[in-house]
Amino acid sequence: MDQVEEIKRKVNIVSVVGEYVTLKNTGRNHKGLCPFHGEKTPSFMVNEELQIYKCFGCGKGGDVIKFLMEIEGLEFVEALEKLAKRAGVELKKLRVDSRGGEKRRMLEIHSLASEYYHYLLTEHKVGEVARKYLLDRGLNEKIWKTFKLGFSLSTWDGLSKFLILKKGFKEGELVSAGLSIKGNRGGVYDRFRGRVMFPLLDSGGKVVGFSGRVIPELARKDEPKYINSPETLIYHKSQMLFGLSQARQAIREKGRVVVVEGELDMISSYVSGVTETVAIKGSALTEEMVERLARLCNLVILALDADEAGEEALRRSVETLEKRGLEVKVVYWSDGKDPDELARKNPSSWRKLVDKPVSVYEWIMKKAFDKWGMETPEDIKRVVKMTVPYLSKIENRVVAEVWVKRLAKKLDVSKERVWEEMEKVGMDSRLRGNDGILNQVQNDEKISRGDKLTERLLTVLFQLEGGEKSLVKKILSGVSLDGAGGKLLVKWIESVDGKVASFIKKLPDELKSVAEKCFINEKEDSLGEKEVVRLTMDLVRDRLHIERVDLISKLEVVEELDDEEKIEEISKRLVWLDKKERGLNY
Ligand SMILES: [Zn+2]
Repeated sequence: MDQVEEIKRKVNIVSVVGEYVTLKNTGRNHKGLCPFHGEKTPSFMVNEELQIYKCFGCGKGGDVIKFLMEIEGLEFVEALEKLAKRAGVELKKLRVDSRGGEKRRMLEIHSLASEYYHYLLTEHKVGEVARKYLLDRGLNEKIWKTFKLGFSLSTWDGLSKFLILKKGFKEGELVSAGLSIKGNRGGVYDRFRGRVMFPLLDSGGKVVGFSGRVIPELARKDEPKYINSPETLIYHKSQMLFGLSQARQAIREKGRVVVVEGELDMISSYVSGVTETVAIKGSALTEEMVERLARLCNLVILALDADEAGEEALRRSVETLEKRGLEVKVVYWSDGKDPDELARKNPSSWRKLVDKPVSVYEWIMKKAFDKWGMETPEDIKRVVKMTVPYLSKIENRVVAEVWVKRLAKKLDVSKERVWEEMEKVGMDSRLRGNDGILNQVQNDEKISRGDKLTERLLTVLFQLEGGEKSLVKKILSGVSLDGAGGKLLVKWIESVDGKVASFIKKLPDELKSVAEKCFINEKEDSLGEKEVVRLTMDLVRDRLHIERVDLISKLEVVEELDDEEKIEEISKRLVWLDKKERGLNY
């Protein structure tokens, strides 16, 4: 059997979900408060028979693997591994790509290196200088453990020797893992020397790389402050969010994440009580990072350095986040400090700043005023130049108007002048924005009244198990149904199966998702037969109306063509439609 199926069969979604959500058995379903969006009355359902969950508030739903992916922010394989462990199933074939073995070795090397660095920091006497450095920065032993911090010797090949002589790895392996560098005269030497070591973890919590920060006492001249692992088979900078493993729980609970730029910024913020903090590698959030965050929360609070380059990175980050539909806020502070310093020197004021983030537009205005002031016409020009690219991205005309007004008022210039500038910069992006809105409206309209009625009817019918099928069949007779819902309805009333769950399990994929959604939907106001009749008749009326409109336009064409036969056929059907409609009074 397929291992995925085997694992799914062996774990029960109710007990897995039950570890995150308090569930109440309501008969067919288990019901609770949705862990993915804030709510006070439960609309989150788990169905044991079908092993699926569905939230009628935010729309999230799926099987047990999807649940674990969503709630823990895991990749498919990682969620599967977790469940396999739970089910006592040994995963065989997954992860077998051609370089699977190499990957495993690389993970092993990193795990050992991390142990080695951690040992030097916490146990060995050479680690004294690093211990002092960290303690001076207010980072105690508990934090060393939480983040598995380490120390790398300032000698040339401490780690390389350890891994080669004691653990039997080859030089080449250490080089491709990025931990050692090939020397000019043969041999290898350590990439990280005399540094505090921050392990970089993947979403499953495995070490895949390191970032090393120089310790002032050990620093040689012109040494970079930070050194990072290079891109390897297992480490990808564009996906790395430092601290996510430690912050994940808090992010989910608080429904938000604070994004900073460096490892120490992240840890200091965490220590100050803002445990929902992560750090990005590089200066802007990538789509991969955003995707990982989107699985955990809806609000992203940016606390990035705001120098010239940082401002550009922030703008790109905001765009990526908004494209993914996340809410974005920015932490504003006026002095040139970084989050590490702010959080360390005054934890409570850092917490307050994070609790009062401002909108991106307000942030850029404040930054522009801080930077240029507004003494001379030149200053004002510069402020406008810095803010307008942001404001011109606002898609909603009314919202844009509000911000333009605020900026104009602050600068004591006319609104028109700001609009003029906006139009210079942002015309095409504005148009693009409008396009997006139009598309959305069209998508919404695709869920027709008929589809809604069909789904509602199926929901009620499924609650009645096999009941009322013949009644529905009688009312629907002669009426053509379409779409996935229509096909499903026909299938159900034609089927001899009385058990809904077993019926659903046998359905093809395109009908299954509709069926599951209807099955797990729990409405307490169901009136049984009466409601079935009402819904079916509404559905019939809807179908008749649509068919009639369609036939009338066809009739115009065939009359033009003098096609007697077709005219006859369509007229007959139209008469039948009228008769059917008049007869709808059960
Ligand atoms: Zn929900």
